[in-house]
Amino acid sequence: MTVDETDQTEVNLELHRAHSARMYDYYLGGTTNFAADREAAGQVIAVFPWAETAARVNRGFVHRSTRMLAAAGLRQFLDVGTGIPTSPNLHEVAQRIAPDARVVYADNDPIVLAHAQALLRSTAQGRTAYVQADVTDPDSVLAAPGVRETIDLAQPVALSLNALLHFVPDERDAHGLVERFKAALAPGSALVLSHGSRDFAPAEAERITQVYAAAGTAVQMRTREEIARFFEGWEPVEPGLVATHRWRPEGGSPDPGVADAHASAYAAVARKP
Ligand code: SAH
Repeated sequence: MTVDETDQTEVNLELHRAHSARMYDYYLGGTTNFAADREAAGQVIAVFPWAETAARVNRGFVHRSTRMLAAAGLRQFLDVGTGIPTSPNLHEVAQRIAPDARVVYADNDPIVLAHAQALLRSTAQGRTAYVQADVTDPDSVLAAPGVRETIDLAQPVALSLNALLHFVPDERDAHGLVERFKAALAPGSALVLSHGSRDFAPAEAERITQVYAAAGTAVQMRTREEIARFFEGWEPVEPGLVATHRWRPEGGSPDPGVADAHASAYAAVARKP
């Protein structure tokens, strides 16, 4: 689906400046991106030629972790930093295994809201909702009517924060906000998280950060240790925190064509004891 670039006067999509959701859509080969997004994404690709691979293998992690958790019995999903709908979306992956799965999506970018209809096509047995919210305000996410009416916080929830927290620098208390979410969830809940890291290709990662900063988006890549701290106190699911393409790859072994530097991100799933 494409958006008519001339027909966006109602919501302020700020088409003149690059947005992270639309740049990610561009890396994934989507069509919901505009000149400023493509310009900035092109600059990222110039300094980090594997941006498209990184986005694709991150999306693969989203799918594999969702399938694993649905197969493990999770029936409630809260996906914050959803991104522009990209088929298959998380609810489609979960509901293929568990048609009664209930999924709430949240993002703070109006472009995602504008396309949220694609996220709301639930199975009849399940349910989906979309909430316009900011991850840096966990209480407002958790109290949103769309969350309250769709998922029961007294039961286990799979909270996914994928390719999101590198957009939340330490000044905005990334670790503190994750703890707020973790505290609100019931035992048996899961934290699913992928995060850009400078560990694999430090020079390229630094240049990515500079391109995003110049385009008006703060990015903070984190080390393995800093990312591991998001999971503190919860029990890691095998294989723990690894480069995204190494997390339970399809067929048992990661794509030999993808190096850790191409992913330049870590991913893990942990359960609340
Ligand atoms: N989770 C998806 C999309 C990642 S792109 C995936 O892994 O495939 C990152 C998304 O995070 C974008 O849609 C962007 O709009 C959103 N985002 C960035 N900062 C945010 C914030 N403070 N609150 C909520 N969403 C945010």
